[in-house]
Amino acid sequence: MNPRNNHRLILFPHPFQGHMNSMLQLGRILYARGFSITIVHTNFNAPDPSSHPNFAFQSITDGIDQSEASTLDTRGLLALLDVRCAVPFEECLREIVSSQGGDAAPIACLISDSMFSFTCSVAQRLKVHALVLRTAGAAFLYIATIFPVLKEKGYVPVLGSRSEEAVKEFPPLLVKDIPAVDPQKPEVMFRILDNLIAVIKDSSGVIINTFEELEHSDLASLREVLSVPFFPIGPSHRFCVTSPSSSSQAEDTDCISWLDKQPPKSVIYVSFGSLAAMSEAEMLEIALGLADSEQPFLWVVRPRSVRDPEWLEKSPSHFLKALEGRGKIVKWAPQKEVLAHPAVGAFWTHSGWNSTLESISEGVPMLCMPRFADQGVNARYVSDVWRIGVHLNGGLERENIARSIKRLLAEREGAEIRERALVLKEKASISVRQGGPSYQALDALISHILSFK
Ligand code: UDP
Repeated sequence: MNPRNNHRLILFPHPFQGHMNSMLQLGRILYARGFSITIVHTNFNAPDPSSHPNFAFQSITDGIDQSEASTLDTRGLLALLDVRCAVPFEECLREIVSSQGGDAAPIACLISDSMFSFTCSVAQRLKVHALVLRTAGAAFLYIATIFPVLKEKGYVPVLGSRSEEAVKEFPPLLVKDIPAVDPQKPEVMFRILDNLIAVIKDSSGVIINTFEELEHSDLASLREVLSVPFFPIGPSHRFCVTSPSSSSQAEDTDCISWLDKQPPKSVIYVSFGSLAAMSEAEMLEIALGLADSEQPFLWVVRPRSVRDPEWLEKSPSHFLKALEGRGKIVKWAPQKEVLAHPAVGAFWTHSGWNSTLESISEGVPMLCMPRFADQGVNARYVSDVWRIGVHLNGGLERENIARSIKRLLAEREGAEIRERALVLKEKASISVRQGGPSYQALDALISHILSFK
């Protein structure tokens, strides 16, 4: 731990779980480097201050009620949060700025999540330097910069008939990997991406949770196109050896003692992140596919991953019968610990960026089932660029599921994939060690912040 450096950072995380985790993680890293940390957060999905005793917390009223949160889709909620948080955030930051002095360390800068479009202009008005945290990968961000070209070439909105076509401008992407644009309301997605690029261009720099060896060429393209400094400090969770959970949901740690009893590299860990939802029919197909794979499994079924939150308790008996004795179901897992467990042989994932990076950090091969946003791009990189996983091809159907799991856990192809995953794990690990590229990027970030006057 470095001595306190008498500089305060104001961190403004986006409330979605993956974004919140990344920002709190960044806060811990920068606290360990001597900064004081104040977290400004929404009421919606608020973090628990008692889990982060070294940080100060200040909440803003976002006006999101429970019914909006449960009925809106992710994009709708994203757009609403962006509108509702702008004024309360400005009022909060103004109050923090005007109450500077006394015992509190002076503000060095604001670091806000890149999904808020208003933060850099608010900071400029209040004469505060602003950095943004990008919690997804460099490849997806580069795609956001070329979205107007993709639109012009007719790749978006994606037409079903073209979905398997290659995107010539961005190999090895297929049209279906590009984030989906609702043909009825295409402007929603276009606005989200335009805002993202605008806030980044307005910022004094981008902290991004990736590492040079993983996305070198996309990082180089971004530096060229966006002309702001980039600080790739990933995988950021590897900087803090012991970090408290930042989950807003209780982690079921029983699954670790269950994993202790399973043979090495035998378990398929199944989790689709904090947002993706399935139909009951899809859940049943997953259950039957897991049973047919004849491999032990650990499956996260979040209460809201099916429309009916009581679904698991009420689910038909043949569903649970299919699973009897073969695996364990939990509502929320300590995912990083699970992926680091020697019994875990593969990860069936929705290809969210945090999950992808956490899997890479532990050398766990992935079975990819992207659902929306950046996930299609992440999954394509996993299967075709880094070659550390496969797609669930052929649809969410029990035979495909069982075949794909066996392919990863019991066949030669799976063993080759694991070898490549272990090489990448080593690169990730070197990256955050003293002198490694992400370690150097963190040093550069700190010098950058301390240069602000
Ligand atoms: N996560 C977890 N326990 C679970 C499922 C997910 O701790 O049972 C964490 C996971 O480690 C990751 C985050 O939730 O840090 C999910 O982020 P990701 O970007 O993968 O997906 P999103 O939830 O944003 O779709």
